[in-house]
Amino acid sequence: MIKEKADHPIAVTRSSLPPLEEYVEMLKPLWESAWLTNMGEYHREFAELLKQYLQTPNLELFVNGHMALELTLQAMGLHGEVITTPFSFASTTHAIVRNGLTPVFCDINPVDYTLDVDRLEALVTERTAAIVPVHVYGNICDMDRIGEIANRHHLKVIYDAAHTFGETYDGRGIGQYGDASMFSFHATKVFHSIEGGAVAFQDEGLAGVLYELKNFGITGYESVDSVGANGKMNEFQAAMGILNLRRVDEDIDRRRALAMRYRERLAGTEGIRLCPENPRVRYNYAYMPVVFDGYRKDRDQIFSELADADIHARKYFYPCINDFKCYRDRYHAEDTPVASRISRQVLTLPLYAQLEPEIVDLICDIILR
Ligand SMILES: *Cc1c(COP(=O)(O)O)cnc(C)c1O
Repeated sequence: MIKEKADHPIAVTRSSLPPLEEYVEMLKPLWESAWLTNMGEYHREFAELLKQYLQTPNLELFVNGHMALELTLQAMGLHGEVITTPFSFASTTHAIVRNGLTPVFCDINPVDYTLDVDRLEALVTERTAAIVPVHVYGNICDMDRIGEIANRHHLKVIYDAAHTFGETYDGRGIGQYGDASMFSFHATKVFHSIEGGAVAFQDEGLAGVLYELKNFGITGYESVDSVGANGKMNEFQAAMGILNLRRVDEDIDRRRALAMRYRERLAGTEGIRLCPENPRVRYNYAYMPVVFDGYRKDRDQIFSELADADIHARKYFYPCINDFKCYRDRYHAEDTPVASRISRQVLTLPLYAQLEPEIVDLICDIILR
């Protein structure tokens, strides 16, 4: 006899939180100093801890991942076109457009849904300045070939690494690849600081520029040198990040066990596709994407059957960015057919550290029944 319904609503994700007393304890020094933001003590400490955890010598904190990406593109002084994929969160393309740059959409590959490197070089023109590939769902892009093409054409590579907190490739922190990588610490991510983000980068010279840009371009009490924004992470965010960093490995272990449970049940079913795992990557199990391709029920039907059981999976990412109202007059989803098809077939199933294994079983029962 299988259960029919979850006994409480199940969302696709749920934020991990430290014990409230620990957070309150962290707040006491803030009440004493009244230093709440503008690169305080927790900001400094959090940045140092992250450099170690992410194995990256150069790192700058931001109020969120989006500002980290937007200001990194600005800091690099790019002009012209930027190649990216439409199979991502709105932030990736918005960061490009809000810098006055022109996005050029490259299709994704049908295996792990990252940028299709076989289509990349054909999109490079004399106006191309950079590539912004997305390590979508925690799947690592083909960084060797992206790097090779970028070198040949003198292009910057800025990874949207919002989904890859703590992942390693060949044992090296993922932030060591490309020119820069943006991480998001939003409440819905594997690791969070309520809202928050960081950029890891190779060129040490970028540190000062990023710092200046996240602080309005201010360089001294009486000098403002660049058209910056407000991208500063505050002390409450940094305190939350410091506490969550202590538990993130435990959370990832739990996520791994749940992801394995999903895989055991769903793998090998005709019409159900799971992402392959690359042995060179240490994953963080941020998401559980499942593609229904020729399965006896389609994505939308499974979405509704789960919703009827009070389980709320997400059509993540649907629609594709080039089909958003704000872009569709200039771009066409048909130009990236793989992204367009996957966005109609993919469902991201609930996955978070505190998810009960029985709910994973229930979800699989509903999918397979
Ligand atoms: C979450 C996310 C972002 C933006 O991060 P925020 O911290 O929410 O600003 C950017 N890109 C992708 C792929 C994301 O999932």
